[in-house]
Amino acid sequence: MTTQKVIVIGGGLAGLSGAIRLARMGFRVQLFEKNDRAGGKMNILKLQGTAGEYRFGTGPSLLTMPFVFDELFDFAGVERSSVLDFVPVEPICRYFYPDGTRLNTYADKQRMMHELHQRISPEEARNYDKFLAYTKRIYDLTAEIFLFTPFQELRKLLHLRHIPTLLRLPQIDPMRNVHAAVSKYFSDARLVQLFDRYPTYNGSSPFLAPATLNIIPWVEFGFGGFYVRGGMYRLAEEMTRLAENLGVEITTGSAVEKILHDGKRVRGVQVQGEKIDADYVLCNADVVEAYNGLLDGFPSRTKQLNRLEASVSGMVFYWGMKRTFPELEHHNILFSDNYQREFDQIFTQKIAPDDPTVYISISSKTDTIHAPAGGENWFVLLNMPYLNGQNWHTEKDRMKSAVLKRLLSAGIDAESAIDTEAVHTPEDLYNLYRSNKGSIYGISSNTQMAAFMRPANRSRDVRGLYFCGGSSHPGGGVPLVVLSGKMAAELIQEDAEI
Ligand SMILES: Cc1cc2nc3c(=O)[nH]c(=O)nc-3n(C[C@H](O)[C@H](O)[C@H](O)COP(=O)(O)OP(=O)(O)OC[C@H]3O[C@@H](n4cnc5c(N)ncnc54)[C@H](O)[C@@H]3O)c2cc1C
Repeated sequence: MTTQKVIVIGGGLAGLSGAIRLARMGFRVQLFEKNDRAGGKMNILKLQGTAGEYRFGTGPSLLTMPFVFDELFDFAGVERSSVLDFVPVEPICRYFYPDGTRLNTYADKQRMMHELHQRISPEEARNYDKFLAYTKRIYDLTAEIFLFTPFQELRKLLHLRHIPTLLRLPQIDPMRNVHAAVSKYFSDARLVQLFDRYPTYNGSSPFLAPATLNIIPWVEFGFGGFYVRGGMYRLAEEMTRLAENLGVEITTGSAVEKILHDGKRVRGVQVQGEKIDADYVLCNADVVEAYNGLLDGFPSRTKQLNRLEASVSGMVFYWGMKRTFPELEHHNILFSDNYQREFDQIFTQKIAPDDPTVYISISSKTDTIHAPAGGENWFVLLNMPYLNGQNWHTEKDRMKSAVLKRLLSAGIDAESAIDTEAVHTPEDLYNLYRSNKGSIYGISSNTQMAAFMRPANRSRDVRGLYFCGGSSHPGGGVPLVVLSGKMAAELIQEDAEI
C-alpha cells in the first residue's frame, strides 16, 4: 500500500475500471460522481404503468468482448462468472427491411450462413464467409495496437513486439470507406445496408469512416453478443461493489467543479467549493467538457479539442408495452428506406432524419422480470446528430410518429400497446452525463486520422493528470472504455513507480 492518492472524476464504467485497478495496485482512491448512482450511461430507469412496473437499461443493451470484463474482475481477485451471468443472445438481432424481408443474424457461423443461404442467396452466404475472414484479419492486425496499447505513448507504440504489426498497417484498409469495402463483398443491397450499420456502434457513418472500422462486425460475430442477466446495469453495480470492497471511497451526487494545478503539476480537485488534495487525478468526465469547464489555463488545447468532431448522439424512447410482440426478438432493427439520405441528414446536415432506422431492444424477452406479466419493456434508439441548435422539444414528437409509422409498415401496431413512456433527447444525454454536445461515443471516427486525434490517456499539459472514457483513447463502447480505465491506471502506476 502506498500513501499516494488518486482522485477519479466520474463513476462511468471507465472511471470505475480505473478506480478498481488503482485500488488493487495499492493507491488510496477517492471517486466523485455528479449523479446519484455510479454507472454513467449504463444506468437504470423504472416506469410505473397501469399494468405494473417496467425496468429499462438507459444506455448499452449489447455487451461485446466479454474477456475484457473477465480480465478486470480477475485482476481484482474475483471470478466474474461468480457474480455476473453473461447470456449469449442468439439470434443476435432481427432485421426488418422496407421490402418485407426479415433476417436474423447469429454469432454461430453455420446458422448465420444457413440464414443467408435461405433468405438471401447461396452466393451471399459464401460472401459472408469471406467478409468475416476479412474483418478478423483487421482485428488481428489492429487490436493489439489500437485497442490494448496507449499508442500515443511513442515508446509503447515502437515496442519491438509491435514492429511486425506496424509494417502491415496498410493492410488494415484505411484508404476507402466502410461502405465501399462492404459493397465489394456483397452485391445484395440488404446485406450492404446490414454491414454498413456497424460503424454506428461507435457513432460514425459508413460513408465517411475508414474501412478499418470493419473490425466491429468481427467483435460481434467473432466473440458474440451478450446480455447481463438481471439487466445490463448489473455490470455497473458489480463494478461499483468491487471498487468499494477494494477500499475506493465513492461519493455520489458530487460534481467536481475544478481540476486544481500549478501550471505544471496537478494538485487535486475542487468539490462544492472545497479543495481536496491528490497526487494524481484520473478524469472520466468528457475530455472536451473538462477543458471547457474544469481545467483552466490551456486555451490553445481547448480550441484544438473544440475543433474535433463529436460522435453521433441519440434519442431513446422507453416504452412500457402492455402486450407482447412475438414477431420481435431481444434486439431488432427496422431499416429506413434510404440509408444514405438518413446518414447525410445526421452527419452532414446535422438534422433529425425524416425516416430514421429504428433499433428496439427488449430485455424482457430474456429476463421476464423487467416487465409486468404479459408486457414488454421497449428501449427504442434512433441515431441523432449531436447538439447543433436543433429544437428537441418538437423533434421528439416528429421522431415518435416516424417510429410508429416504420413499425406499422412492418405490420406492427405499437401505439395502442404503450402503457407508459419516457424519452431522452440529445439534450437530456448532455445534461445527464455532460458528454460533449450530447455525443454517445466521444470523438467521431469519421476520418482516417480520428484514432490519432483522440485525446491520449496521459495529459500532455499537466503532470499527474490522466483521462479515461469514451472521449479518450481507445474510444467509445463498453469494452473500450473499460480498457481505457486500464491503460490510464497502468500509466499512473508507471509514473508513481510503485
Ligand atoms: C443510448 C445509448 C446506447 C448505447 N449502447 C451501447 C451498446 O449497446 N454497447 C456498447 O458497448 N456501448 C453502448 N453505448 C455507449 C456506452 O454506454 C459508453 O461508451 C460507455 O458507457 C461510456 O462510459 P464512460 O465511462 O466513458 O462515460 P460515462 O458513462 O458518460 O461516465 C462519465 C461519468 O462522469 C460523470 N461526470 C461528468 N462530469 C462530472 C463532474 N464534473 N464531476 C463528477 N462526475 C462527472 C457523469 O455523470 C458520468 O457518470 C450506448 C450509450 C448510450 C447513451
